Amino acid sequence: MIGLGNMGKPMAHNLLQAHDHVTVYDANEAVTKEFKSTNAIIGESAQKAAAGADVVILMLPNSQVVEKVVLGEQGISQEMKKGSLIIDMSTSAPSSTKIIAEEVENNGLYFLDAPVSGGVKKAVSGELTIMVGGDESQYERSLNVLEPMGKEIFHVGKVSSGHTMKALNNLLSAAHFLATSEVLVAGNKAGLEPEKMLEVINASTGRNHSSETKFPNFVLNREFNSGFSMDLITKDIELALEITKEFKTPAFLSSTVYEVWRLANKLSEGKYDHTEMAKFCENWGDV
Ligand code: NAD
Repeated sequence: MIGLGNMGKPMAHNLLQAHDHVTVYDANEAVTKEFKSTNAIIGESAQKAAAGADVVILMLPNSQVVEKVVLGEQGISQEMKKGSLIIDMSTSAPSSTKIIAEEVENNGLYFLDAPVSGGVKKAVSGELTIMVGGDESQYERSLNVLEPMGKEIFHVGKVSSGHTMKALNNLLSAAHFLATSEVLVAGNKAGLEPEKMLEVINASTGRNHSSETKFPNFVLNREFNSGFSMDLITKDIELALEITKEFKTPAFLSSTVYEVWRLANKLSEGKYDHTEMAKFCENWGDV
């Protein structure tokens, strides 16, 4: 397993519960070392970690990093044995995934994209939703590796379909988080209590995952600690917009949603949790 960040770390712990011989590696040495107290094998580099593996899982920030780790100078695909499988569980760009998959398959390896939804909480509990793109037989092969990490596992189509599905899901998720922020700020200024508003919204037609889960758990308590950064959600919306551009589908609302997240991310210098969008809306008068 390569990439042990907010998501990769708990996912690796669940893999370790289910399987012997799990090798872990992260470019951040301190993170890799944390696994010394477990039964994981500690990889010295991505290439060395992947060398003998049947299946390599990637949980990396974005496609640029995935490309470097798979195909770069010290890329894992050079050292992996023929017939082994790479599963990219990161939220990557479908266009890049197609290119990587083709190159990898030309080298006698297999490739699946299998991004996830559910955030850190579901990564810890092993209840992620996983959306898999790629060959049916490789999907079947991947299940005993994916099952310890996921609750709902979908095969959504050919390679890169998982990444397409994930980007579009996150566009929707970013839209309802922003809409919920705007509604709560307006209501609050008009004299309504945010707690009471959420109670009513969640019993009414405006309810959504942000109003039901993210606001109660990360915003109302002012913790803003979902473990999903503003930088990453902005990247995801960009990926979704690339899809709408490629297929010339309407993106009136989506373009606006993107501009607001892009601005908030720029002002936060990519450092903040994505739930701080609520604060950005609260402080709009000061922007
Ligand atoms: P993160 O930034 O916390 O973790 C990424 C990890 O990759 C870091 O530990 C980093 O050191 C490591 N890394 C970077 N470059 C590397 C390299 N060249 N070789 C090895 N390791 C390298 O990110 P995250 O929140 O865990 O997200 C990972 C992916 O999952 C992203 O694509 C994100 O969009 C997606 N995702 C995140 C969430 C969430 O709630 N955080 C939910 C669903 C999907």
